[in-house]
Amino acid sequence: MENIRVRIAPSPSGNLHIGTARTALFNYLFAKKNKGKFVLRIEDTDLERSNAEYTQNIYDSLKALGLNWDEGPDVGGEYGPYQQSERFDIYPKYVQKLIDAGFAYECFCTQEELEAEKEDAIKNKKAYIYSEKCRNLTKEQREEFIKQGRKPVVRFAVPKNREIVFHDLVKGELKFDSNLIGDFVIQKSNNTPTYNFAVVIDDMEMKISHIIRGEDHISNTAKQILIYEALGAEVPKFGHLGMILATDRSKLSKRHGATAVSDFVKQGYLSEALVNFVALLGWTPSDGEEIKSLNEIAEDFDITKISSSNSVFEYDKLNWMNGQYIKKMDIKKLTEKIKPYLEQNYDLSELTQAQLEHMVEVTREPLTVLADIVKDVPFFFGKDVDFEDKVKEDVLNTEVSQKVLKKVVEDAQTWDFNNLEDLHEKLGDIRAFFKEQGIKPKETMWAIRAAITGRTHGADISAVMNIIGKDKFIYRVKNAIIS
Ligand code: GLU
Repeated sequence: MENIRVRIAPSPSGNLHIGTARTALFNYLFAKKNKGKFVLRIEDTDLERSNAEYTQNIYDSLKALGLNWDEGPDVGGEYGPYQQSERFDIYPKYVQKLIDAGFAYECFCTQEELEAEKEDAIKNKKAYIYSEKCRNLTKEQREEFIKQGRKPVVRFAVPKNREIVFHDLVKGELKFDSNLIGDFVIQKSNNTPTYNFAVVIDDMEMKISHIIRGEDHISNTAKQILIYEALGAEVPKFGHLGMILATDRSKLSKRHGATAVSDFVKQGYLSEALVNFVALLGWTPSDGEEIKSLNEIAEDFDITKISSSNSVFEYDKLNWMNGQYIKKMDIKKLTEKIKPYLEQNYDLSELTQAQLEHMVEVTREPLTVLADIVKDVPFFFGKDVDFEDKVKEDVLNTEVSQKVLKKVVEDAQTWDFNNLEDLHEKLGDIRAFFKEQGIKPKETMWAIRAAITGRTHGADISAVMNIIGKDKFIYRVKNAIIS
């Protein structure tokens, strides 16, 4: 098989979008599956919109997802530089080659002239295509324009009456009529290349064999194929992925929720869950089992089986999936991931590492994102508890609760709080004792829970007691008793 080389070529004009992460993932998977190379190229030729912070965000986001690249600006490689702004001196010679061979020409039209052409097209209800006014300038005309101080752009001379056909790996056969393309700019008047030109030169020089990207680039592909052909270069294979839409079928945007990988990570989505979820935006596992690791996905991945239609980004499903990963994650690993969220709100030195892990273990069940834990654990810290609304009036201050708490505070003096099993049993005894008096076990437990957590539901109560210890327990129960 030929050397498989794929790439992701993000522009650092924003934080890495989850859609770009999906494109990166599918390229990565394709490389893994075919023992190829995955290349990262930073397309920062638009110097005004690009910045180094976004480049760093691209690195961090791809790394967070485990999508490590074989070649790139930071790790180097045989075909660098991998940052487009360091490649400016590469493009002009190819532009010249095309001009010399008659595939491109200098265009001196001014903005005003082009605007006038566009307005004409609108008036005549026609799609705008450049008039080709400068395609066949005489030497004298050219010199005259230069004398006037005009700085030319370079346009590609699109051939007439050509059907551009390619077999898209995802969408099947696609056809374009060259007469509808129009002579497009490949080099701007400041001598920098346009996207369509730079991307071809870079992909060609970097020996990219397969270009997998969003379908918003399909019309660019037709232009790019013409450039490859004019340069006498081998045309790579293309695969265009459907778009990612929100549940309302509009383009996924910030108003729907987070869209940058780093924002998802900040909120406490696990990278394993994110990657798994993003893979399902277009790919379906052959065994129907949706929860899969990156390696399992790579083994099962087949670009030709990718859905050619758009995918819907369901935040609810991502939440569910993240919850599944939180429930199953190794407790030590999960505790480490959760610590930064806790540290912002609590003094973690109050608990030992073992207690902290125990706390995470007994509170992880309902979590959707890691940050959620913060609101579920305040009573594990500090001496006093904050009571939720109405807990005092409705639960603690009833006759039944007061009776329960008075007995518990006495009995607890002899309980071993370090022994979870024992605490379990002791609470069982208390429930049984009050049941004999006609008090429902549920009510008994509510009283205790409300006194030590300030809430009516939450983590297993014997675990809470075990973690906060006897002193705090007795202190809080005493405080809840109205003397
Ligand atoms: N820089 C382009 C983008 O971010 C790359 C497109 C491509 O993959 O060719 O859309």
